[in-house]
Amino acid sequence: MSRIVIRGGLVVTAAEEVHADVLVEGGRVAALASHDSDPARGWTASADRVIDAIGKYVIPGGVDAHTHMELPFGGTFASDTFETGTRAAAWGGTTTIVDFAVQSVGEPLRAGLDTWHAKADAQCAIDYGFHMILSDVNEDTLKEMDILVEEGVTSFKLFMAYPGVFYSDDGRILRAMQRGADNGGLIMMHAENGIAIDVLVEQALAAGRTDPRYHGEVRHALLEAEATHRAIRLAQVAGSPLYVVHVSAQQAVGQITLARDEGLNVFGETCPQYLFLSTDNLAEPDFEGAKYVCSTPLRPKEHQAVLWRALRTNDLQVVSTDHCPFCFVGQKELGRGDFSKIPNGLPGVENRMDLLHQAVVDGHISRRRWIEIACATPARMFGLYPRKGTIAPGADADIVIYDPDAEQVVSAATHHMNVDYSAYEGKRITGRVETVLSRGEPVIDGREYVGRAGHGQYTPRGTCQYLV
Ligand SMILES: [Zn+2]
Repeated sequence: MSRIVIRGGLVVTAAEEVHADVLVEGGRVAALASHDSDPARGWTASADRVIDAIGKYVIPGGVDAHTHMELPFGGTFASDTFETGTRAAAWGGTTTIVDFAVQSVGEPLRAGLDTWHAKADAQCAIDYGFHMILSDVNEDTLKEMDILVEEGVTSFKLFMAYPGVFYSDDGRILRAMQRGADNGGLIMMHAENGIAIDVLVEQALAAGRTDPRYHGEVRHALLEAEATHRAIRLAQVAGSPLYVVHVSAQQAVGQITLARDEGLNVFGETCPQYLFLSTDNLAEPDFEGAKYVCSTPLRPKEHQAVLWRALRTNDLQVVSTDHCPFCFVGQKELGRGDFSKIPNGLPGVENRMDLLHQAVVDGHISRRRWIEIACATPARMFGLYPRKGTIAPGADADIVIYDPDAEQVVSAATHHMNVDYSAYEGKRITGRVETVLSRGEPVIDGREYVGRAGHGQYTPRGTCQYLV
């Protein structure tokens, strides 16, 4: 059983910041002790390996609860496989992803889940779990939800957008929420009024407004807020908790804040692209705006301050990436002359921990809040805590040694995601991952990849641990 000591770093969790040495045994955190105390010196003397973390942060590996590896969308597939995507995640300090298995209309949930297991099996560099996208709510699939919860697939995403693909009407949504209220499954909602949006898309295209920036205009902020409100009240009627994914509009944040003030189990996630990018990017000339097409869409810059405030006040609880990369050449280009044919999604699984550290440097959030929104809360929200999301005795030794002073420039030329552009090209960031352990095994070691496809294990999850 290998013994690793991580020595001299500042251990930062959602709860504490302490100068401590960390003992890792058999893939788990065995103990923490004051730096250079007698017990810590004893560990160092008998360790197989000592990692020097002086001047560095020692943080839990990131938990990215929203990724789409190899997602079929708009006649193409997201360009990261589980192999390339999880390797890139590790480079960026993320050690667990929860990806979305997709049920196709007319198929059982089981078939979709089996497909996702087959894609991920023996491919991943880091641990992974699955949510289930519920595209077809009926008596059979409602029963299947119970079985999946028992098996550790404890969250179900429904769509108020994308009529004819993933869309569920209010009656189906209510039924799924009622079932979730009974079996403990957490309902995740893509909250945009897709029926109204499709009318605006048709009108825009008919009027010759075909550039990427119109993607942002037709997916109106008020149609996100309206759907968010509707989802909240449907959940309230069903007596179920609700997790709203990729919140981007300040008016939608307002609905979540209101619900939380009423004491409801309503939670919200936002993503780095909404915090750091805006409609200015969507308006970039020469079809470059297509790089920033995702749904919900990027909003005007003034929404960013509201999102940051909500992250500080816990009106939003989680930052995930919604990582869903499509190459500019050959994929995003499918929508030249018709913005509605641009595959929706941005790459980001590698950038999240760094961008949020930059937010610490910039004063938007505290260090502990960085770890809370990126590691601890997503682990709690999706039933992985305290195995994931913290550094404490008994936790998996998913640990990142983070250099808070290193300078880097984000670029497609140096990133590890399988996509031909970066949404943050040229952005300067202070802070960088140095070493990453997954269950005690090095995946990144001093800026070198030493991991392997197949190290990452499927991780069944418990039910939500964040309910009030
Ligand atoms: Zn998504």
